[in-house]
Amino acid sequence: MVWRILSFLLCELGAGLAGYLLVGDRGAELGLVAGSVAWFLLDLLRAGRTLRWLRRGAGPDTPVRAGVWGEMGERMRRLLRGRDQQLDAAEARLQDFLAAIQASPNGVVLLGPEGRIEWANATASAHLGIDPQRDLQQLVGNLLRDPGFAAYGAAGDFSHDVVIPGRDSAPGRPARVSVQLHPYAEGRKLLLSRDVTALEQAETMRRDFVANVSHEIRTPLTVLAGFIETLQNLPLEAADRARYLELMAQQAQRMQTLVSDLLTLSRLEGSPLPGTGEWVPVAALVAQVEQEARALSAVLGRSQELHVSAPEGVQVSGAASELASALGNLMTNAVRYTPAGGRIDAQWRMQADGGAEFTVRDTGPGIAAEHIPRLTERFYRVDRSRSRETGGTGLGLAIVKHVLQRHGARLRIDSVPGQGSTFAIEFPASRMRVSAAADAPAAQSATAGR
Ligand code: ADP
Repeated sequence: MVWRILSFLLCELGAGLAGYLLVGDRGAELGLVAGSVAWFLLDLLRAGRTLRWLRRGAGPDTPVRAGVWGEMGERMRRLLRGRDQQLDAAEARLQDFLAAIQASPNGVVLLGPEGRIEWANATASAHLGIDPQRDLQQLVGNLLRDPGFAAYGAAGDFSHDVVIPGRDSAPGRPARVSVQLHPYAEGRKLLLSRDVTALEQAETMRRDFVANVSHEIRTPLTVLAGFIETLQNLPLEAADRARYLELMAQQAQRMQTLVSDLLTLSRLEGSPLPGTGEWVPVAALVAQVEQEARALSAVLGRSQELHVSAPEGVQVSGAASELASALGNLMTNAVRYTPAGGRIDAQWRMQADGGAEFTVRDTGPGIAAEHIPRLTERFYRVDRSRSRETGGTGLGLAIVKHVLQRHGARLRIDSVPGQGSTFAIEFPASRMRVSAAADAPAAQSATAGR
């Protein structure tokens, strides 16, 4: 400021002196007036340049370097540069924050006071079909037209969620999304969405499973209770009594088999995966399941031709009891579903790629194509009464599937109704080894049930 006054006085003095020297007293007066006009014009020019610079966005170079206008420009430039840096930092933080919400597995939608969409992440778009660009400022109620969501919004109780159909929901493939509103500052709301399709499916499966198990146990229990009542209340002949006890034993056995299969399944689900360190001799494994099949064939009174073969000196890695259960289930199924006089061929064959295949081919009734993909579901049966007659639980192939999954193996089913079925287990090369030492004699073909 001092410099400003000084520069004005110097300008006055210089112009007055010049006027005095040129024209005398009158010239000094004129010089003083001309000096102040010139100073003001110069000052106005500098003010104008500073103002123009400000209007154009205050670039890096100030238009006036010296004097008050110069200092003012420089200070403004520094102030604005500081603000810009703060803004950049805030913008970067906002972008980081938005990127984090974008990466969230949950859908996030920010709603204004009237329920208009202000921002949505890509997951919300996948769950609910909200387009983060096109649907900005749209009322969320206009986009989510599910009656359940409308009622939820109208009720105003946001302490719980509401489950509505997801964007990709189709009649055969329902998609379910949980949506919850969380009110925050000044009437705004945060809408969070979560895909609960798998959760709901698991819950449905659990309910079906419990219902199936209850049904399977209730039937033999009802029969048992009936016989017990009869035995308690009626004076029976010894022969009738023996017959009833025999039927009761059958029902008890049925329940025992069911519980045993259920325990096997739960053990398979809960236990750690079998390592690749335990090697099981294939010939002994196949001989064991062959023995079981022959015993069952005899119990059921079927005269079936049973041909079994397995190579010697070959080993498969995995849990022996699980593998025996998988192979055994295929063999006993063949025995149970093949009528008397039929033929069953079971073979363990090494493949060119080092893997192996265990196939069980029967001449039973065969299975229609539409049932094949569902055979490994728990309690799925093509023919309910036939399964029960032969002591089936509907869990055998579910156990097979589980065991194979745990061993990196695969089940293949080929069947033509009326022409029999082939069930094949494919083991990968990594699970097989051929050792020089013979472990057990290969099973030979024979006729069972006689
Ligand atoms: P189940 O105890 O009823 O035999 P599984 O899970 O072992 O249950 O088999 C499922 C269904 O697959 C059976 O109910 C039966 O209808 C069909 N199935 C299995 N093996 C055979 C086979 N070898 N021949 C014909 N049908 C079979």
